[in-house]
Amino acid sequence: MPESIISLHDKQFAPYLPYEQLTDAIRILAARLNEDYAGKQPLFVAVLNGSFMFAADLMKRLSIPCEVAFIRVASYEGTGSTGKVREVLGLQEDVKGRHLVLLEDIVDTGHTIRYLLDMLSSRGAASVEVACLLIKPECLQHELNIRYASISIPNEFVVGYGLDYDGLGRNYPDVYKAL
Ligand code: 5GP
Repeated sequence: MPESIISLHDKQFAPYLPYEQLTDAIRILAARLNEDYAGKQPLFVAVLNGSFMFAADLMKRLSIPCEVAFIRVASYEGTGSTGKVREVLGLQEDVKGRHLVLLEDIVDTGHTIRYLLDMLSSRGAASVEVACLLIKPECLQHELNIRYASISIPNEFVVGYGLDYDGLGRNYPDVYKAL
């Protein structure tokens, strides 16, 4: 087995997106957010668990006054979306009148983002936008207006950089795809 291939549970994964490519995209995203949210003191809402590395690397590059909070939802089991989104760790912050930016590691079917957009808008946020690191456009099942989508990928199952396969793989700095 080549050394760069990783094994997690019953699957093997090959290198796909190196860390440098991810941070280049995050730098560009941060520059846009610094400009668009100047004077708005946005609240970034990172969607756990997968987005913790993305959120950390993005926050370090934001130079505007801003806050960060975390929400945890689950819809994936193994390598597939169940279609049902559950809120596992609720958002404590009052979002009324706030400008929110959801930070999502990857958008696949869009069920998670649809659920969160509806939930946060109903709580009286002034605006809610979505920033995602990865998006699989051919898998989307909702009409979503995702203003900040960094890297589009085909319908591959990926791990690394916060993303897991049944709990494993989050710790790798690069993104790998299933073989
Ligand atoms: P959606 O609700 O858009 O179908 O899926 C969003 C969530 O599913 C992501 O936050 C992530 O947790 C998980 N997910 C979607 N695609 C992948 C993938 O390729 N790899 C991994 N590890 N998780 C994924």
